Amino acid sequence: MTLHTTLDTDTTDTATTDTDVPEWKMLIGGEWVEAVDGAWTDVTCPSRANVVLARVPDGKAADIDRAVQAAGAAQPAWAGAHFKERQNALLKIADAIEAQGEDFSRLTAQDTGNAIRTQARPETATLVSLFRYFGGIAGEFKGTTLPAGDDQLQYTRLQPLGVVGAILPWNSPLMIAGMKIPAALATGNALVVKPAEDAPLTILKLAEVCSEFLPAGVLNVVTGDGETAGEAISTHPGIAKVSFTGSTSVGKHVAETAGARLAHVSLELGGKSPNIIFPSAATPERIEQTAEGALLAMRFTRQGQSCTAGSRLFVHEDVFDEFLDVLAAKVQALKVGDPLDDETDMGSIINESQYCQVRDYVDEGKKQDGVKVVLDGSDYTPEGLQGFYQGPTILANVDNSWRIAREEVFGPVLVAIPWRDVDDVITQANDSTYGLAAFVWSQQLDEAIETAQRIDSGWVQVNQGGGQVIGQSYGGFKESGIGREFSLEGAIESFTQTKQINVKLG
Ligand code: NAD
Repeated sequence: MTLHTTLDTDTTDTATTDTDVPEWKMLIGGEWVEAVDGAWTDVTCPSRANVVLARVPDGKAADIDRAVQAAGAAQPAWAGAHFKERQNALLKIADAIEAQGEDFSRLTAQDTGNAIRTQARPETATLVSLFRYFGGIAGEFKGTTLPAGDDQLQYTRLQPLGVVGAILPWNSPLMIAGMKIPAALATGNALVVKPAEDAPLTILKLAEVCSEFLPAGVLNVVTGDGETAGEAISTHPGIAKVSFTGSTSVGKHVAETAGARLAHVSLELGGKSPNIIFPSAATPERIEQTAEGALLAMRFTRQGQSCTAGSRLFVHEDVFDEFLDVLAAKVQALKVGDPLDDETDMGSIINESQYCQVRDYVDEGKKQDGVKVVLDGSDYTPEGLQGFYQGPTILANVDNSWRIAREEVFGPVLVAIPWRDVDDVITQANDSTYGLAAFVWSQQLDEAIETAQRIDSGWVQVNQGGGQVIGQSYGGFKESGIGREFSLEGAIESFTQTKQINVKLG
């Protein structure tokens, strides 16, 4: 079964007319279907603001219900099969995605605005690796036996939860889908996935590949908006677990609604992560390397649209000016432009409202007393393109109490805060409602490890900005989330429940 039209990436420079727009249906019960009410919604290309890429069904509660029924019907046989069946399917899906990797990457660049070389291709590669990883460990979801005497067989089974509802954000949809879908499948669950309104196309394409190797109904994808389709996932009694990645405000709401019916919930939410530079990391021998790492940590090449962005840069006073000079030179050299161009380092912001929000934060930050504008990427438009482009922006001498230092901008905006005393910088780093990621840069082992251990975040990196490894623990402290995904332990925690069986023998 195929999904229909492939987008012609060469035509995305020009505005499309209504009749040109391809219609991409959604996958329910192994069929490509329209919404029950026949409604459609446009998906636009953020890097070319005038282009509608495709039209997708505007799914509602009735569509979620159809998908839950299909998933519920398919799940027992999927869970009841030998693990090798799940393993084979996941490994074949990985191969098939890899074989079409460039299509996935181009589509990612089109519907998210993420640059193809720096972001979209690595995101596709991570998706492939995640399918391989969870395929590889499909036999590791094992129970235990208790030595309770020869006349007793007391054992546990790690059972799937049933139907998992996965709600995705737009910033790197394939990667986030890769944290949920293969893990939920490997553990024997069926899924109803709702992609973000702004970036559903790669998820539909992923569904197309998966549908070749999975029994009908095991994976369903319903497009639609958060308040209707998303809400229906949180409230549907047939969904045993909601795995949500998105903003903290929506995550709290999802936790409340799903929690009201005692559904399992995991939440991967926002962040405002500290990035602490000690003087020993900014010596003449280390300064270039550390600045490269801080650039990577800030996720500038994903337009800063990353929950783990190290967006609060704490630089020791003794090296503050020279470090910012070196960093600014590197950041300024990033090429902002067409996400489909291999030369581009940094693409476009996802949509107009996000773009305006980023601009508002920058405008407000620039008005604060004592702020120093190191780089201002506002009003940046690559030649010949109309889209939501914001160049990288760095504001220095920021105070940790300002809104721009406290709230998640989710744009390419870095604030730099000077510090002198280590206890004070750790207090400031922890003075945040968030606790997702953190970065520490020091050549002194004790100092680096002690600082890493004192930071209230779910993931701390020392002397590196982008070292995420599949199989590591991943998830937030505080308002950055609840639960872990990305690993064997995360899959057990997030997608299984333990059953104890006690048998009297003889
Ligand atoms: P968002 O919260 O606006 O939307 C996320 C998803 O929730 C979308 O699919 C949306 O349709 C859906 N949704 C909206 N209202 C809903 C409702 N009432 N019920 C159920 N679902 C609903 O987030 P976004 O703008 O798409 O993504 C950006 C946010 O995601 C940022 O805050 C970012 O930090 C966070 N994020 C976190 C991680 C992580 O791993 N911690 C990863 C990526 C993004």
